[in-house]
Amino acid sequence: MYSFPDRGGRELTLRPEGTAPVCRAYVEHGMFKLTKPVKLWYYAPMFRYERPQAGRYREHYQFGAEALGSDDPLVDAEVIAMLGQIYDELEIGDLTLAVNSMGDAECRPAYTELLRDFLAVHADELCGECRERTVLNPLRTFDCKVESCRAVLAGAPHLVDHLCDPCRRHFDTVLELLRKVGLDPVLDFRLVRGLDYYTRTTFEYQSNSLGFAQSTIGGGGRYDGLVELIGGPPTPGFGFGSGLERVTLVSGLEEQEDEGPLAYVVTFTEEARADAFALTQHLRRELLIDAECDLVARSAKAQLKQAGRSGAELAVLVGLDDVAAGEVRVRDLDNGDEEDVAVDELGDWFDDWLDDDGLDGHGHHHGNGNGNPLGGNGGGEAS
Ligand SMILES: [Zn+2]
Ligand SMILES: [Zn+2]
Repeated sequence: MYSFPDRGGRELTLRPEGTAPVCRAYVEHGMFKLTKPVKLWYYAPMFRYERPQAGRYREHYQFGAEALGSDDPLVDAEVIAMLGQIYDELEIGDLTLAVNSMGDAECRPAYTELLRDFLAVHADELCGECRERTVLNPLRTFDCKVESCRAVLAGAPHLVDHLCDPCRRHFDTVLELLRKVGLDPVLDFRLVRGLDYYTRTTFEYQSNSLGFAQSTIGGGGRYDGLVELIGGPPTPGFGFGSGLERVTLVSGLEEQEDEGPLAYVVTFTEEARADAFALTQHLRRELLIDAECDLVARSAKAQLKQAGRSGAELAVLVGLDDVAAGEVRVRDLDNGDEEDVAVDELGDWFDDWLDDDGLDGHGHHHGNGNGNPLGGNGGGEAS
């Protein structure tokens, strides 16, 4: 964790993950009174103090969701399937869905003893850390990356084979539901979490692309003991967290190019600068048109050049002598077509233009505001 003393000597730790804070909020704000399950989500920066590597940073963003108040296996399956759907929509291919069950307070203690005995027999094949874990938290030995430890643990008794009947039924139902919606869960006995509040289902989506060996891009599980641990009423919970940086690395989506504004407002006289500014604000705020104007006092000619360079499709010319009062001249920067349009009618004009142009995929939309930003300030008309 990212821990340090602040200037007042207080020991601080930056938030390492999202589930515990969500559970704390659930308790603090009395959400246990709401209809269950309570479904919550977050997208927030998280911190960890470790050597940064590809897709892993000390500050990173995580999105996650938690469903609180039901231990029904449908909740497990729904959350797992939802994360799979999110990854599908982000065009992440070559994913493995790994799952495991942690059991519960009924069956895990006996299994933990069994594992401890097994590890004690193999102590000289384990790394120093795992020998310590054997005593303190034997389940954590499954996390070890040391080859000899991994070899030992492959032959260890696995929790999923030692579940009590209710845990077994719960896990089987989760697996069945996942298969029913076309997912292909693969049992991974290494998917264990060392803390007591984790129960039953754990899962991870692992990506095999981009040269990461089975890198996890998101995962989570059931934590039926956590809310109570934090001081709330006994409340089962299930959720996931997913690191955005890793997801971005494996996503098949193209990076979106900056398309530039739709309209560039060009000023032809010094006096019309304020009008051009007001018109740009009007386009943005009332018509929701992506618009820019000159901010460095360029000549009209240089502004037109800048309009083209910015990627704008239209130039709105303000302050021309031969344009009637209350109107502006709109130039299509693709073909040079020009049309004089009353400022009052710009909203409809942009509507028609976007329809005809068929470029609405561009993402420009505008509202119904039709006020005249050039009116009411005396001498504001283009003349
Ligand atoms: Zn080890
Ligand atoms: Zn059990």
